[in-house]
Amino acid sequence: MAGLLGARVLSDFFEEVIVLERDPAPDGPEARKGVPQGRHAHGLLDAGLQVLESLFPGLVKEMYAEGGERMDMGRDAAWHTAGSWKPRYVSGIELILCTRTWLEWKVRGRVGALRQVKLRQGCSVDGLLLDEARTRVTGVKVRSPEGEETLTADLVVDTGGRGSRAPNWLEALGFGRPEEEKVGLQLAYTSRFFEPPAHYKGDWKMMAVFPRAPEEWRGGFIAKVEGGRWLVTLHGYFGDYPPTTDEGFLEFARALPKPDLWEAIRDARPLSEAVMHKVPSSRLLHYERMERFPEGFVLLGDSVCALNPVYGQGMTVCSLSARLLGEVVARQAQSSPGSILGLSRDFQNKLARLLGIPWRMGTTMDLKYPQAEGQRYPGLGLLHWGFGTLIDFTSVNTLACRQFYEVMHMRRGMEALMRPDLLAAFAAYGLKSLFVPFPQRANVHSLPQAPAQASEGA
Ligand SMILES: Cc1cc2nc3c(=O)[nH]c(=O)nc-3n(C[C@H](O)[C@H](O)[C@H](O)COP(=O)(O)OP(=O)(O)OC[C@H]3O[C@@H](n4cnc5c(N)ncnc54)[C@H](O)[C@@H]3O)c2cc1C
Repeated sequence: MAGLLGARVLSDFFEEVIVLERDPAPDGPEARKGVPQGRHAHGLLDAGLQVLESLFPGLVKEMYAEGGERMDMGRDAAWHTAGSWKPRYVSGIELILCTRTWLEWKVRGRVGALRQVKLRQGCSVDGLLLDEARTRVTGVKVRSPEGEETLTADLVVDTGGRGSRAPNWLEALGFGRPEEEKVGLQLAYTSRFFEPPAHYKGDWKMMAVFPRAPEEWRGGFIAKVEGGRWLVTLHGYFGDYPPTTDEGFLEFARALPKPDLWEAIRDARPLSEAVMHKVPSSRLLHYERMERFPEGFVLLGDSVCALNPVYGQGMTVCSLSARLLGEVVARQAQSSPGSILGLSRDFQNKLARLLGIPWRMGTTMDLKYPQAEGQRYPGLGLLHWGFGTLIDFTSVNTLACRQFYEVMHMRRGMEALMRPDLLAAFAAYGLKSLFVPFPQRANVHSLPQAPAQASEGA
């Protein structure tokens, strides 16, 4: 996703953009070796959807017309998290529900049609080329069934995902390695397609039942996806992996914090085998902190920051990062036409700021589990209390829920939560939380109904 979206923005500035992909060209929207996560539920959040539409006008509409589900986060999500259901209301925050493979297929179609872009499949990048002064990347080494070759370029963009070998390449070239932040999760996803049972009446398009940390660590989603199917994904942390057997899958679903997901799928007909994907950790590489960093080289996507997938932000971060790359290149083209000197540092610095919020939000929540391996810092306990109380508060206060969704969907920064009216209500709720135990405070034990008509929340 980062490679395709990056190519799209660079096509506005460069005469030729070559995308080098190790996997052979797919025949259709199928799962492939290089993106094993593609078989599992993937939501594209509101901010990502907006970037997609701005880069490929008409694409989102086309996808809705062809079977992608248009979803309002407040109205159409049945979301149980941290011990209570979220309010149901029309939020104006939109998501597309579809498979990752189909989304990527549609984006690849649009990118491949661009005159400036050449998609080369079956080409593995094996290393970077440097200029004589050893300060600037001038191209890449490529291996393909036809043999080995070198390609020169004004700008090289690494979007190799979690498996990117850029740290090794930079180290071998004498630049050192980037600092790494990591939170060990021992998480696994197991997913399976189902045909929804004919008799089942749900007023949602996505159901998610998430655990309350630290005492629960199993979760699951059902997403309505193209072809009228349900894609059901279960997840478990710290080695408690959802089984791939028929009975094991259902038993795991039954043991989720709420029975609603199991009740929905127990009579559903499986349409595929269940498949598992393991995610040992989330990881952030600080390229922006490297003392020496080559010109002519940038990185984005999971090769820089691979988030905990449960929060569904990875592709949205890719979209925002690609847009940022376009902005940085545009500014450079204006201030220093024909030169890319300084662009690499500028981009990695700005990218680090963009990544800060999703990384901190996700890892703060994950470190609430004592089993999560990662660096704990002074004040984390207070953050956990504040964050946990905020999540509880969003279950009982629609305005808090709306502002929280704005941040979660990366439409706005944390300032969205700093409204004086919200802070006053939150302070009162927080005070109460010191005396009243959680279940009585949350008071949302059964799934609220979707609003009958399009009414905006408070
Ligand atoms: C189980 C799971 C569920 C997820 N759910 C969501 C979700 O709901 N919403 C969301 O937004 N995100 C989700 N994500 C995250 C999302 O998948 C990633 O953030 C996103 O795919 C990152 O895109 P990328 O282009 O950086 O990397 P990838 O999509 O991993 O692509 C990397 C590409 O580089 C190629 N490649 C690698 N090395 C080389 C090389 N040396 N030469 C040539 N090609 C190479 C690979 O073949 C691959 O095509 C999930 C992740 C996982 C693991």
